[in-house]
Amino acid sequence: MTFTRTMKRMAVRTIAALAAVACTMSLAACGADEAGKIRIGIKFDQPGLGFKKSGTYVGFDVDVAKYIAKKLGYSEDEIVWKEAPSKQREAMLQNGDVDMILATYSITDERKKAVSFAGPYFVAGQDLLVRKDDQSINGPQDLNGKRLCSVTGSTSAATVKEKFASEVQLMEQPGYAECATALFSGIVDAVTTDDIILAGLASASRGKLRVVGKPFTQEYYGVGIKKGDTKLATKINNAIVDMIQDGSWEKAVSDNTSGTNYTPDVRYNPPTPNEGEDA
Ligand code: GLU
Repeated sequence: MTFTRTMKRMAVRTIAALAAVACTMSLAACGADEAGKIRIGIKFDQPGLGFKKSGTYVGFDVDVAKYIAKKLGYSEDEIVWKEAPSKQREAMLQNGDVDMILATYSITDERKKAVSFAGPYFVAGQDLLVRKDDQSINGPQDLNGKRLCSVTGSTSAATVKEKFASEVQLMEQPGYAECATALFSGIVDAVTTDDIILAGLASASRGKLRVVGKPFTQEYYGVGIKKGDTKLATKINNAIVDMIQDGSWEKAVSDNTSGTNYTPDVRYNPPTPNEGEDA
């Protein structure tokens, strides 16, 4: 046996021992409290979509997730909610940290190299959020020389780099709430991501921020699942169809956008969920 192989074995044993210790110290670390439950990744900091509010979880993604979970045979108390920041979503699914992700997660070919999607269950569009009193930005045509904030690992940041790289400065943050703070304090001139996310942030700002309202992409929100799980995709798609047909989808949209002035683009909504199934 070579020296390096011995070292590797020792490392493996050490990791196993550490995991066992973590397990005795905290149930969550060994997943004992997760047995028989479904683990769902959502955002914790996006009002109206996925938001942690004194120990409960609210928003459109949460409502869609609960509906799907129920159809899969899980009651609400059999759901373990996990925070899924934009940058960590593919890894969380690949590592098996979660069974599915509903976190304003756009279906893209790039992401489909690592994970699969069911859905779509909603179609948003990338837009801009500015300070209420700033009249200088009224669409993507006004971005020359502006400082933007978006989130690492999002399609929104990727689109800025692709389309506006030469004219703007892009600051990247771990979440959109941090971007909104940078916008308040004047560190950036605009936050860019999906219109429905920006509508929630504008509403939470109590009139200090406004959504420009000129979307320049289509973002098809999918349910992220482990790559290749076509059976689960079919079940999820059937659940989404039911949710649209029985009126729960419409109710979830209106409940979670009330008071924001946001209405979904009827050219794309509600969408037809046909992703991820066997060809
Ligand atoms: N829907 C876009 C994405 O999946 C932006 C929103 C987000 O970062 O969650 O990247």
